[in-house]
Amino acid sequence: MSEFTARDIKYLAGVGPQRAALLNKELNICSFHDLLYYFPYKYIDRSRLYYVHEIDGNMPYIQLRGQILSFEEVGNGYRSRLVAHFSDGTGVVDLVWFQGQKYVIKKYKVRTEYIVFGKPTLFGGRINIAHPDIDSSEGLNLSDLGLRPYYNTTDKMKHANLNSQAIEKLVSNLLSLLKEPLPETLPQYMIERHHLMSLTEALQNVHFPKNPEALRRAEYRLKFEELFYVQLNILRYMRERQLRYQGFVFGRIGDFFNTFYKRNLPFELTTAQKRVIKEIRKDMGGGSQMNRLLQGDVGSGKTLVALMSMLIALDNGYQTCLMAPTEILAGQHYDTISRLLMGMNVRVELLTGSIKGKRREKILAEILSGDVQILIGTHAVLEDTVSFSKLGMVVIDEQHRFGVAQRAKLWKKNVSPPHVLVMTATPIPRTLAMTLYGDLDVSVIDELPPGRKPVRTIHQFDNRRTELYANIRKQIKEGRQVYIVYPLIKESERIDLKNLEDGYQVVCETFPECGVSKIHGQMKPAEKELEMQRFVVGETQIMVATTVIEVGVNVPNATVMVIENAERFGLSQLHQLRGRVGRGADQSYCILVTGYKISEETRKRVDIMVQTNDGFEIAEADLKLRGPGDLEGTQQSGIAFDLKIANITRDAQLLQYVREIAREIVDADPEGNLPQNMLLWRQLRGLRKSHVDWSAIS
Ligand code: ADP
Ligand code: MG
Repeated sequence: MSEFTARDIKYLAGVGPQRAALLNKELNICSFHDLLYYFPYKYIDRSRLYYVHEIDGNMPYIQLRGQILSFEEVGNGYRSRLVAHFSDGTGVVDLVWFQGQKYVIKKYKVRTEYIVFGKPTLFGGRINIAHPDIDSSEGLNLSDLGLRPYYNTTDKMKHANLNSQAIEKLVSNLLSLLKEPLPETLPQYMIERHHLMSLTEALQNVHFPKNPEALRRAEYRLKFEELFYVQLNILRYMRERQLRYQGFVFGRIGDFFNTFYKRNLPFELTTAQKRVIKEIRKDMGGGSQMNRLLQGDVGSGKTLVALMSMLIALDNGYQTCLMAPTEILAGQHYDTISRLLMGMNVRVELLTGSIKGKRREKILAEILSGDVQILIGTHAVLEDTVSFSKLGMVVIDEQHRFGVAQRAKLWKKNVSPPHVLVMTATPIPRTLAMTLYGDLDVSVIDELPPGRKPVRTIHQFDNRRTELYANIRKQIKEGRQVYIVYPLIKESERIDLKNLEDGYQVVCETFPECGVSKIHGQMKPAEKELEMQRFVVGETQIMVATTVIEVGVNVPNATVMVIENAERFGLSQLHQLRGRVGRGADQSYCILVTGYKISEETRKRVDIMVQTNDGFEIAEADLKLRGPGDLEGTQQSGIAFDLKIANITRDAQLLQYVREIAREIVDADPEGNLPQNMLLWRQLRGLRKSHVDWSAIS
C-alpha cells in the first residue's frame, strides 16, 4: 500500500467521522485502499437510447430521450403519487414518484428535452418507470456516460443515505485526488508480456468503465493479479517445503512391479491409469518428496494405481502403508490387494483398532523389523506404537476424512518424510483443488474401465412404495442385491437411527423371503464386518445402512441403490452412494426417494443426479449451487473468501493460466533473488501478513 492509499477513509471528501464509522463497520472499509478495492457488483450501460415503442415490462434498465407532456397527481394522503407523462414521439410512458413530489415538480419542466433512465415495469397496461434518473440532454454526450457502477450496501447504510449512488460519489472523489499513477503491484515485464492494463487504469475503469471493452480489460487485470498471487503464494510454500525436505529417490523399476505387470495384472490398464502411474513414477524418482492428490470418480480404479505405486517403493527396498478411513474399507483393501498379489511373495498385513493382544504385538514387531512390506490399516497405523523400519511411501484413501495434521503425523514416522499419495473419490473440481490443495500436485483418472454400464438414476416420490418394492423384488429374483440407505447426519443422532430401525423393520416385513443386513455407525467394528461379510458372500440380499457404506464398499453383484430421504443428502454424497452400484456387468439403478413436496434446490439436485453420472460435472454443479464456502475443506483454508473480484468457478481457466505463470517464475527464480521479481516477493510478504490463514494451507 502506498502512503496515499493507506490514508484513513475519514479524510476523504464526503466521508467524515460518522460515515467512516459506518463504512468500517458495515463493509470493513477503513482506508482509501479499501474503498478502491470495493468493486461494483454490476454495471448498467448508459450509452444506449431506446424508443418507447420498443420497450416492454421485462427489460432490466432503459434510457429514453424525450419530453414531459404533463404532470398528474394521483390519489391522496400517504398513498399519493406523482406521475409525469413522458413521450419521445414514438409512445408515452409514465414516470412515477412516491416521494419528493414537490421537489420533482419544481425541478423538471414540461416540454423540455431530458434523458430518462430507469427500470420499466408494466402497470395497469402502461409502462411505468418509478423514481427515474433524469438529466438535461443539453451538452450531454451519451458515450461519456458509459457504464454506471452499482455497489452493494447494507440496510444500515441506506438509512444513513449511504446508498450505491453515495458510494459512487465517494469513489469518484477519491479517483479525482489521484494526480499520479499508483505504484504498480505487478512487475512491468509481466504487464507487458500479458498485455495487462496498468493498475491505476484498471481501478479507474472497474469503477467507471469508459466502455464495455475497457471494463473487460480492467476486470481481467484485477482478476489476473488476484489469482496470480494466490497461486504464487501456494507454489512458493511448496518450493520452500521441497527445499527443506529431501525425498527418497525411487529410481528403480524392478521385479515386484514388472512381475505384477506381466503376470498378475487382471486387465489392461486404462489410458488414464497409465498416465497417472507415469506421473507418480516421475514424482518418486525425482529427488523431492511426492505429495500428490489422486482424484478419480468412484469405480475409476484408484486401488490398482495405488498398488502399482506401492510396488515401486518395494522395488527400491522400502515399506509402504495404505490407510483407509474405516475398518470395513481397510479390510476390503486388504482382501483385494492380497488377492491381486497372489503368488508374488509380498508380505501384506492388516492393522486396525480391533486387532489386539498377541496378534497385534507380532504384527508390530514385523513392521519394525521390515518383514511387513505393505501395511494396510485405519487410523491405528498412526499410533505411536507403530514404527517402521524403512517407510518410503504412504497412500491415504478417501482424503477428506483425514486432516492435514494426521498427514503430518505420518511424515514424522521417518527422519525423511515418505512420499504421499492421497486418493479421493469426491471429485473436487480441478480449479478448486488447485486453490485448496495447492501443496498437492493433482492427478486425475478421468476415465472408467471399459464395459461399465452407466447407472440409471430414477427419482421416486415416497408415496409410490408399492411400485418401488415391486422393482426391488424383481431385481432380487434375478439374483441381484440391493442397498437401502438412510440419512444420518451425525452418527449420534437418535432420531436418525430410529429412521433406520423403522426402515429395517418395514423391509424385513416386506421381504420375508430375503436375508436383510443392517449396518450403522454405532455398531462395533466386528459386528459391522460380520454384517458386511454376510452381504458380500450373498447370504443377505438387502443391506439397510446409514452412510457408513458411502465410501469404497465394493460388491459388484449389488445393482440397486435406494436412497431414502434423498432430500437430506448433498450432491457429492448422493454421487458417492450411487457409486456403490454399477460395478458389475449388469444394468444398475439408483433410486432417489423424496417426499412429494420438495424445495427448488432439492429439485435441482435431483435433476442433476438424474441427468449425469459424471462426478466432475456434479462437483461443478455442487460448487455452483452451494458456492465454494460450503464445500468440504474450504472452511479451514479461508482462501476462497478472500477473493474480491475473481471467482474460482467462473474464472477457472484464468486460474489455470496464472498458475502456470506463477510456476514458471518460481522455477526460474527459486531463491527469489532476480531483480525483476523483487516486487513480487515484496507484495507476497505483504499479502501473507494481512492474511493470517494463508500459511495454514501448506
Ligand atoms: P475406486 O477408484 O472407486 O477406488 P476401485 O479401485 O475400487 O475404484 O476399482 C473399481 C473396480 O474396477 C474394481 O472392481 C477393479 O477391479 C476394477 N478395475 C480397476 N481398473 C480396471 C481396468 N483397467 N479395467 C477393468 N476393471 C478395472
Ligand atoms: Mg476406492
